Amino acid sequence: MTTDISESRSLNFIEQIIEDDLRSGKNGGRIATRFPPEPNGYLHIGHAKSICLNFGLAKKYGGDFTLRFDDTNPSKEETEYVESIIEDVQWITGEDLTGRIRYASDYFDQMYVWAEELIKKGKAYVCDQTPDEMRDNRGTPDKPMIPSAGREFSPEKNLELFRKMRNGEFGEGERTLRAKIDLFSPNFNMRDPVMYRIVNAEHHRTGAKWIIYPMYDWAHGLEDSIENITHSICTLEFEHHRPLYDWFLDNLDNIWRPHQYEFARLNLTYTVMSKRKLLELVKGNFVTGWSDPRMPTICGFRRRGYTPEAIRAFCREIGVAKMNSIIDVVKLENAIREDLNKRALRRMGVLRPVKLVIDNYPEGKTEQLEAINNPENETDGTRLVPFSKVLYIERDDFMENAPKKYFRLTPGQEVRLRYAYYVTCTGCVKDAAGNVTEVHCNYDSETRGGTSADARRVQGTIHWVSAEHAVNAEIRLYDRLFTKENPDDPQDPTDYKEYLNKNSLEVISDARLEPALANALPQEQYQFERIGYFCIDSVDSKPNNLVFNRTVSLRDSWAKIEKKDNQKK
Ligand code: ATP
Ligand code: MG
Repeated sequence: MTTDISESRSLNFIEQIIEDDLRSGKNGGRIATRFPPEPNGYLHIGHAKSICLNFGLAKKYGGDFTLRFDDTNPSKEETEYVESIIEDVQWITGEDLTGRIRYASDYFDQMYVWAEELIKKGKAYVCDQTPDEMRDNRGTPDKPMIPSAGREFSPEKNLELFRKMRNGEFGEGERTLRAKIDLFSPNFNMRDPVMYRIVNAEHHRTGAKWIIYPMYDWAHGLEDSIENITHSICTLEFEHHRPLYDWFLDNLDNIWRPHQYEFARLNLTYTVMSKRKLLELVKGNFVTGWSDPRMPTICGFRRRGYTPEAIRAFCREIGVAKMNSIIDVVKLENAIREDLNKRALRRMGVLRPVKLVIDNYPEGKTEQLEAINNPENETDGTRLVPFSKVLYIERDDFMENAPKKYFRLTPGQEVRLRYAYYVTCTGCVKDAAGNVTEVHCNYDSETRGGTSADARRVQGTIHWVSAEHAVNAEIRLYDRLFTKENPDDPQDPTDYKEYLNKNSLEVISDARLEPALANALPQEQYQFERIGYFCIDSVDSKPNNLVFNRTVSLRDSWAKIEKKDNQKK
């Protein structure tokens, strides 16, 4: 079965590997993948790429998928992150992952047994170099590393030392367990890498049971092996770790043998994508939190109104490659627009209101006019929008002295009020400072619904709300968080925070919306006609204090919508 998460036009290089493996009967024709986050932060859009890839492959080839917490470092990890990651992965995949969640910490006993196996084989030893000494003794490309005496101790002696390490007889930084591989290797990852270190910290799941904790390179392949993973997919920076991944697995007896493959990580323009930097933005109050709608986190995007379908479509579109590159964030925004165009309910909302008074419309009269909820989806039906003598329109939709191609309200010009009537502008009222406080017009009662019997053409269509019936709302307009295309360019000595966009959030406190929006549902998407896509802010919006986020602006102008409408007629 294929779903939108697993379909693709042509095979990517990992799919090619998998199909070759399936054809040759490797792994008994079985596929198993995993997504292995470290619970030390919230997931970002880069992780979404890895989730879509790993989950999508398992789905496409009828394989197994696990969400595995790589919780081998007790000092930086928190339960809060575990919970958010589960929520985010389930949201992206659209599946309940109960029963498919694993923790590396559940394998600590088994890993320990395997560490003793390597010691007994003379392939690992206890080292007494401090972290500083280790760095100094690492050697250079032409000089080998300088090992500690433990490298030549007997397996029995090393086993005894390792057990002392486990039992807490040494302090942090006093001893490590290292693999005995190669003092000369041009790949420094192979110069007797550390397998275990001492950390005096409580672990979020194992508590105080362990004082030694496995290093990533040692642990990762073992975790894959325990879970019977077939294709262990990671990002390119682990390419030079693969020989080590292989070495550990090849030197242990009777274990499942997974294989590692590397792909290019996702980078986006105008975005930083490392958890460390995102944490810095949160801790430094540069944003309101991990779920700030300007953050490239999955929870930020969710709050902003992005949909999992759109994120999956984006991941599908950018594909999977072996070369690092930076993707234009516009691609992501376009994927959101494309999806929201299909699903968003159309509504009218005026962000910067000015009154429009229809002088020849009866005082005190209210009409209910029919409006289409979503032209892309007939089953969404229609709704009734109240119309009366005094409306609000956008300030921008009136100009007293307009240039030639201004098709909106200007004295003498006729426009269509969406779903309502044709009106002809007669003038405006200004305050002492010369600001327009009211626009005036007359309507043609024969054009109800926004069409005229004589097929008279109007160039402009504008949106409106009835002043008496409108609901007030706060609207948050978001712009890019950074002003520079590549804010964390490694060549640029300037701190990426210097490139934060000071105008990334604009708050409009007195927008007027059509009354249907008083009952807007969180996680429902709306298109405010001519303005953009919006959703309720799930954190700050209250029934009598509505707050909407702009998910993304509209790509195309009103002209296009109008053209479509005219074509239908
Ligand atoms: P960061 O580099 O952002 O701090 P990380 O790699 O430390 O993230 P992990 O929790 O270790 O975060 O990542 C879990 C998985 O997500 C890994 O397999 C990693 O390769 C993948 N991943 C992380 N960032 C990206 C990215 N930008 N694009 C694609 N995959 C990514
Ligand atoms: Mg990592």
